[in-house]
Amino acid sequence: MPLGVHTSIAGGLWKSVERAVALGCDAMQIFGRNPRAWAWSPVPEAEVALFREKRKEAGLWPVAIHTTYLINLSAPDDANFDKSVFLFKKELGSAERLGADYLVTHLGSPGEMGPDYALRRILAALKETAAEGLGKETRVLLENTAGSGYGFGSSLADVGRIIEGARAFRLKIGLCYDTCHGFAAGYDIRTPGDIESLVMSINKDIGLKNLKLIHLNDSKGLLNSHLDRHEHIGKGKIGLEGLSRLLNHPKLAMIPLILETPKKTGSDDPMNLSTVKKIKGEA
Ligand SMILES: [Zn+2]
Ligand SMILES: [Zn+2]
Repeated sequence: MPLGVHTSIAGGLWKSVERAVALGCDAMQIFGRNPRAWAWSPVPEAEVALFREKRKEAGLWPVAIHTTYLINLSAPDDANFDKSVFLFKKELGSAERLGADYLVTHLGSPGEMGPDYALRRILAALKETAAEGLGKETRVLLENTAGSGYGFGSSLADVGRIIEGARAFRLKIGLCYDTCHGFAAGYDIRTPGDIESLVMSINKDIGLKNLKLIHLNDSKGLLNSHLDRHEHIGKGKIGLEGLSRLLNHPKLAMIPLILETPKKTGSDDPMNLSTVKKIKGEA
């Protein structure tokens, strides 16, 4: 079970590899750029080469890139939608240049237009992306969300409809399941029965083979709170037992894990990594 953390790219993309290695990670997630800016500029070729070399040396797998928060692939406003699709395609192209295995993206918000509208919007975006030849190397992973406000993507059935619809475009696609978002959206994992229902839902709605990555986070919010607030492993409302059951479920035990837990001090990542290693194999 490859394990890693979301790692900072401050000082250059390649620096994230050094940080992941220093933490003893096998896997890594990064932002490919400033996640709060619209303006696009390509990663210089020398930086791409350096990143690929460092990553190869470190033997990290998988490497996931998380898209910019600004991207809204469900946006009803045409200008916002077009900007979002433009940046999404740029980020996917960049992820492919960097040799990333996955590009994790949220599904945005259609406002009052509802889930069917969001579905059509996202599929149009993915179709355009695939038509440009993108998504053949790096796999796009749709991340389930906490379902706050009009946000789309908290229901696995909805995410599954996109994965199903995108098949026709020959784009590599799959699910990144976030445990905090899932819990906040009503997918409980605190008892053995809950875990079984979650695995059944993933299998029915998405297909277990399409689950490629888990964002392992505890949740500050209660079940069904729709609060997207991550907590240290074992210190939130899910707790150690539930997360341990998920880690040790035979159908989930081999899925790579990325922690997106809070980082207030330098000891937070080592603490969460060691908690995961401790509860792995102990359900
Ligand atoms: Zn996440
Ligand atoms: Zn989150």
